[in-house]
Amino acid sequence: MKKYTHAWLAFMAIKRLQYADIPDENKDDAKTLVKWFHDYRDFVIEGAWYPDEVFKDMSTSHIIKYRPAEGSAEQKFKKLPKTMQLYALGQKSPLYKKPFIIESGNCADRCESISHSIVDNFKMLRIEERGCPITTTNNHIAMRFFILSHYIADCHMPLHCDCRPFSSGANLHGLIESDWDKQVRKSYDIDIPNNRFFYDPAGYPLKAKPTPLVQAVEDDIVSREFLYAYGTGNKNTWDYMSAISEYSYLMAYRLLPADLDEHTTAAAYKASAAYTQLEDYSRAILCDAVDSIARIWLHVWSRYRSWAQGR
Ligand SMILES: [Zn+2]
Repeated sequence: MKKYTHAWLAFMAIKRLQYADIPDENKDDAKTLVKWFHDYRDFVIEGAWYPDEVFKDMSTSHIIKYRPAEGSAEQKFKKLPKTMQLYALGQKSPLYKKPFIIESGNCADRCESISHSIVDNFKMLRIEERGCPITTTNNHIAMRFFILSHYIADCHMPLHCDCRPFSSGANLHGLIESDWDKQVRKSYDIDIPNNRFFYDPAGYPLKAKPTPLVQAVEDDIVSREFLYAYGTGNKNTWDYMSAISEYSYLMAYRLLPADLDEHTTAAAYKASAAYTQLEDYSRAILCDAVDSIARIWLHVWSRYRSWAQGR
């Protein structure tokens, strides 16, 4: 995904935590996280873009690449929260319950390790004396949150979980992501020189002319039921992100079915039956990405607060 899409998804996750119907037991954590986040909102665009612009670990940590593989022992798929659209759509993929192999990528490990580092940083911040030279800062931790959102979001892009080389040739991968980014830029007022959004009175990106896709995401994130748990059998960020990558792979074959390949031109893709589904699938992918960022961020924040409050 591209720069403004990443920042927008992170903002939408906080908006979801503020306006969705959060279960009673998580309400206070969600409220305090939203409040904490607002002090750092001017740096979301920059922070959420470090992985692409600075780390450049695209070929390892922004992906988990799957390939169908007859004879492989791997054919069990994990579970996800029932509100996830990728979960429902993935189960209808032609590859569901079919054997696969993972060829490369460590996105789930990356997300797990950043989640840990955020909790650790909060703990150090709390116990170290102010002025101690090795103390971390809230600015630093906010940056880690934004970086984490990048890897979570990327895993929802089906082509980050699919071995087929759709980034080469006609680059349909780039075409789809550029379209999303164009829509985000058109939908909001962005303060380009200062690398931040302009805000509405509630402190969220100020809408200019939202496209139907962007508006659909804005609507979904406040109305979708909020499930805190990661889904049956998933205990941590790693389990959850692994499950996401499995369904993202399954989605790839719905987004770009097996009759398309890297030589399919943009024009041929736009004339194909698959293209008529792009809007619906984009909605599912982007709404789920926001849901996942909100879910993981809240877990991380709750872990720290539970420790701090001795819960
Ligand atoms: Zn990326």
